[in-house]
Amino acid sequence: MTDDLRARLTAVDERIADAARAAGRDVAELTRIVVTKFHPPELIRSLYELGVRDIAENRQQELSAKVDELGSLAGLQWHAVGQVQTNKARAVIRTAAQVPLVAHTLDRERLAASLDRAITEDGAEPLDVLIQVNLTDDPARGGATPADVEHLATVIAGMSTLHLRGVMAVAPLDEAAESAFARLASSSALVREVVPEARWISAGMSGDFEIAIAAGATHLRIGSAITGNRPPRG
Ligand SMILES: *Cc1c(COP(=O)(O)O)cnc(C)c1O
Repeated sequence: MTDDLRARLTAVDERIADAARAAGRDVAELTRIVVTKFHPPELIRSLYELGVRDIAENRQQELSAKVDELGSLAGLQWHAVGQVQTNKARAVIRTAAQVPLVAHTLDRERLAASLDRAITEDGAEPLDVLIQVNLTDDPARGGATPADVEHLATVIAGMSTLHLRGVMAVAPLDEAAESAFARLASSSALVREVVPEARWISAGMSGDFEIAIAAGATHLRIGSAITGNRPPRG
């Protein structure tokens, strides 16, 4: 099991290095995050033993359960990549008090306000956040519309509780990833006009990470290509 995992991880890392080279980019600028949703905590332990230090989950409940079990693994950076309901803001902040956490899906002022309030009330450290950009026309997919990104960045920049690190997106299903990720790069440029150090571009999954690398992604969120097929949603 660990041998298969090691082989898939190595193969993906080689593809990342090849794509970086082809794009004329330094592979050291890229962070490979392994998305472990629906998998048991033991998988994260195995990945940790293989040297993985960036782990992502997409549901807050599953994230907090895994952090309760694995929070003592030193040097592990956690990433929350699923949509966050406003009433889950406090749960996110509690997890961030246990382990280093970046929230990739801040996509509206109301959620920023809820996080701000929870952090202020708890006296918690500032939270690292990315603005999720919706690259589709479907509001249900989550993310701020590209037209709203600059304003949202300004709102977040005004909050001492939130530390804006960049942007995140999922490619649409009905469009070539190249053009979609090019729009994400434009959103990233707008955000950097507001917050110059917010340079992260979180994009690229198992099916499109090479395209994301060519489009400037800095943080790749790769699940099944490394973990194998996900068990049914628990
Ligand atoms: C599941 C998930 C991924 C990884 O998807 P794979 O296709 O398994 O690589 C990346 N980003 C988000 C937001 C996800 O929910």
